[in-house]
Amino acid sequence: MTGSNSCDAPQEKCGVFGAYLKNRNAAPTAYYGLFALQHRGQETAGIVTSDGEKLHKIIGRGLVNTIFTKQKMKRLVGHLAIGHTRYSTTGGARLANAQPINCVAQVGEIAIAHNGNLVNTHELREELEAEGETFDPSENSDSHLIARIIARHIDEGPRIAVQKVMERCVGAYSIAVITPKQIFGFRDPWGVRPLVLGKHEDDYYIASETCAFRAVGAKFVQEIEPGQLVTIDETGYVIDQIVPVQKESLCLFEFIYFARPDSKMYGRSLYSARKQMGIQLAYERPAIADLVVPVPDSGIPAALGYSLASGIPFAEGMMKSRYIHRTFIEPDDEMRKLGVRMKLSPLEDNIEGKRIVLVDDSIVRGNTTGEIVKLLKDYGATEVHVRITAPRIEWPCYYGIDMSVRRKLIAALKTDDEICAHISADSLGFLSLEQAHLAVGKPDRGFCDACFSNNYPIPIPGRLRKKMTRIPSLPQAGQTQPALMGTK
Ligand code: SF4
Repeated sequence: MTGSNSCDAPQEKCGVFGAYLKNRNAAPTAYYGLFALQHRGQETAGIVTSDGEKLHKIIGRGLVNTIFTKQKMKRLVGHLAIGHTRYSTTGGARLANAQPINCVAQVGEIAIAHNGNLVNTHELREELEAEGETFDPSENSDSHLIARIIARHIDEGPRIAVQKVMERCVGAYSIAVITPKQIFGFRDPWGVRPLVLGKHEDDYYIASETCAFRAVGAKFVQEIEPGQLVTIDETGYVIDQIVPVQKESLCLFEFIYFARPDSKMYGRSLYSARKQMGIQLAYERPAIADLVVPVPDSGIPAALGYSLASGIPFAEGMMKSRYIHRTFIEPDDEMRKLGVRMKLSPLEDNIEGKRIVLVDDSIVRGNTTGEIVKLLKDYGATEVHVRITAPRIEWPCYYGIDMSVRRKLIAALKTDDEICAHISADSLGFLSLEQAHLAVGKPDRGFCDACFSNNYPIPIPGRLRKKMTRIPSLPQAGQTQPALMGTK
């Protein structure tokens, strides 16, 4: 994959953040927290604060630093805040998709920020409607259903409200909630998406990743375990196990690509896990070459590991523009090619006449990797051997990552040799699933690796499964094969 925000990268759906500060306005803290979580969603962002009585909200399209102007921040008063960054998998960057989502409850207004995806959305919506809930056409996401369940029960306290969510919602969810007087965060009983608790003096924080704590001067306290709720108010924080852990299943892809390398999960630095993946990859998929070159920025730790283990020198082969983020236009093939060249600029002096091992973190749809190989060859590389620190992605993700349709995954359609030919590489090697787990080095902890293994920890309803895994028959001779959607 091509660094954060490269087009073929699988996209994390969201980052969540919450702050309960003793004596300060929480909005600036939420801003910095979201800024640190920008990699988890760049299409919309939002902050909701509470002054103890009323909620105040700003949401917008685009990056955190463009949405929350100084003027707008003045409206976000109060010492409690939650925030959200979103990558939307459908509907583009529509403001209607932005979170936090507000809902009216007996205790006053509440708002929720959700990272993950339910697998029983359809059934749950029907049930809630049968119970008398009505939804506006814009309230069409799983997050709206969760918000409604919390709103119904929050007057009985967060424990009951979250218990009701856990009884009825099936899927992946790490959620931050704000009420006029409290914030709370909880994680689904499988713990697919991360959620952590932080602290600085009498101020408490929740976040998708530990990197957000550094940004606000806080320290990591602990992970919120699967099925747990953390409630924060003026007395401090309390953690409750609302339902038993089902089967601990933290997303393996967080370790490979999604999370920031300066975050920790299961106590393991993502940077060092990725470097170790590069080391294992060098042993498992060796290559004869002159240089090891990362796809910046996400391929750097693994390329360093590959270089270390193989003895092949590490070199930067291209520079990544610091100013390109996601574009909101649907690229055609020509624009996609130009997009890669806008983002990545080759360093000719380093690559000309060289045999290169190109280290990247994943191949999802296969487009962008091919463009990068071509770019290196156009600027003089004599051979490009692609090495990928993820196993083959052959199965959809139903738990909140933008890889939901099997027919769009190149590894579901082609063999290694066919993918190698498709991306015009001289050789191609993926890290095996076994080696990826070894590199993470937490044999006593549970992971979801379903997009690699087809082994889904949370059962997927048959109807959804059938829809997402159907692969139409390959085109007959003379027919044009439809372009693989997406961009890498
Ligand atoms: S299916 Fe893949 S991307 Fe989705 S949660 Fe599991 S490991 Fe992560």
